[in-house]
Amino acid sequence: MDKFEAIAEIIAASRRVVVFTGAGISTESGIQDFRSPGGLWEQWNPDELTFDKFMNSRASREHYWGFSRAIWPTMAFAKPNIGHYALVDLYKMGKLDSIITQNVDGLHQAAGMPDDKVIELHGTLKWVACLSCGKRFPREEIEKMMDETGEKAPECSCGGYLKQATISFGQSLPEEAVSRAQEKSATCDVFIVAGSSLVVYPAAQMPIIAKQNGAKLVIITLSDTPHDRYADFIIHEKTGPTLSQIAEAVKKK
Ligand SMILES: [Zn+2]
Repeated sequence: MDKFEAIAEIIAASRRVVVFTGAGISTESGIQDFRSPGGLWEQWNPDELTFDKFMNSRASREHYWGFSRAIWPTMAFAKPNIGHYALVDLYKMGKLDSIITQNVDGLHQAAGMPDDKVIELHGTLKWVACLSCGKRFPREEIEKMMDETGEKAPECSCGGYLKQATISFGQSLPEEAVSRAQEKSATCDVFIVAGSSLVVYPAAQMPIIAKQNGAKLVIITLSDTPHDRYADFIIHEKTGPTLSQIAEAVKKK
């Protein structure tokens, strides 16, 4: 039996699969990994984009929005790939309970996952939020307003600062999302990592939580991860074609 068959078998026998996705699944949709060589953090100094700086000066907020608007078109036009659709297939088969993601591009929802089944640990750039009153605006609406008015650091009608609804350096992670992710990791019976190198917190802890609670661990990434030794299956290949083959094999069970 090959690896795909064996993984399909444990998924077919499972009741609750949780998938953890990282940059690897998005790069296959043409979204570059911020951390990779030649990536965005080489063009935009992350030290200038911290949450503290954002809060402390208008110049920093303008700089932040310059960065944010520079990456927006790539994100706005990116389309889900076969990996995103394979996960939707698993969901429709009643196997996939939820997706925990480090990605901020909204591609799981664009592929058809219900919003409440996607836990976005780092937020989403499809929305803009007021840091004071919490009001949220569709990103397109703010883009349009900025185009029309020339505004470079938009503010809410309450006077609060508007910011892309993603987590910046130095900004705390959304507690509710992290605790939901921990709970999902603890209660699944199969935990699949797709396209994450599992190096940053809280990504790093989720597979351990799953494993400690008896789940089978499957890791699909191009690079090694610190958790490879705990995995029941490791596939060092692209996530899209791999997830697609697995979903096809599950369908035949
Ligand atoms: Zn507000």
